[in-house]
Amino acid sequence: MSDRRNFIKKATLGTLGIGSLYRAQDSNAAPINFEKAGARKEVKKPLIISTWNHGLPANKEALQHLSKGKPPLDAIVAGVGIAEADPKERSVGYGGFPDREGKVTLDACIMDHRSNCGSVSFLQGIKHPIAVAQKVLLETPHVMLAGAGALKFALSQGFKEENLLTAETEKDWKKWLKASKYKPVINTENHDTISMLILDEDGNLSGGCTTSGAAWKMHGRVGDSPIIGAGLFLDNDVGAAAATGLGEAVIRTAGSAMVVELMRQGKTPDEACKEIVERIYNKHKDHKDMEYLQVGFIAVNKAGIHGGYSLRNGFNYAVYDKDAGHRMEDAAFKMSWE
Ligand code: ASP
Repeated sequence: MSDRRNFIKKATLGTLGIGSLYRAQDSNAAPINFEKAGARKEVKKPLIISTWNHGLPANKEALQHLSKGKPPLDAIVAGVGIAEADPKERSVGYGGFPDREGKVTLDACIMDHRSNCGSVSFLQGIKHPIAVAQKVLLETPHVMLAGAGALKFALSQGFKEENLLTAETEKDWKKWLKASKYKPVINTENHDTISMLILDEDGNLSGGCTTSGAAWKMHGRVGDSPIIGAGLFLDNDVGAAAATGLGEAVIRTAGSAMVVELMRQGKTPDEACKEIVERIYNKHKDHKDMEYLQVGFIAVNKAGIHGGYSLRNGFNYAVYDKDAGHRMEDAAFKMSWE
């Protein structure tokens, strides 16, 4: 084992007093596959990328909307809306894991190429928070509405209030209550927050993300996903980025905004995602959150090149471009779970 690996392992175990939870690797141990990534040339637009396996049906749906000439924001709302409505997706919308009081509380945001943003946080009872976020963008002078105010606004826009706690998630919550131990689990069966980025045929960027947040969180907790600059950011002159993983870590580092800034400085999307993950690691390596910390970023630049990188293995994302069609890509990562 290299000195560096020994150091990281010792430092982490010393601080956390935990067993061998992960294998810290030299960052060179899981390099970006530049042969593959470098082969990433500018693709024929539109380019659509979305986090995790549920990104694939989302991208397909979004593409259908784009093909019909619908605006990219409508494509995002329709695309990620599939995951929001699916009760089997336990990390987004209807059927999402609740907080420790058994309440499903949702966060979402959306952003267009003119830097118009809409966001909702701590929203309850509405299956499609991304659609409410779009309405905040279109119909209000504000960027973010939260909690009861967001619900009131949604109802005024014709959204229907419904119970989002399915029998299945209620059962899981009751099981969790027995021990009531909070430990965020990122990547429930290879899906989590869904974030989508689009570079459309006109070369304009847009993005959205939606989540039920960390399972068993405190009532009132809001993660990175509805926060412009943390869970999602884009600058139409440069590129777009979105996050998944432990929201607290992404907020602490203004993750997505920083990825975009690095692309502005000339980094490729892969390099920019990797550098911010490294930064998050460095800020958290002695932090209590390190035990379960996972973060992943996806990014696209104006030229039509995409990328992604995660702290730990297991993060994948769906990609569509006009040349190569739909596929899943495994993100390069810094270290393995153990
Ligand atoms: N980022 C989300 C949050 O912290 C959850 C996730 O992506 O796993 O709320």
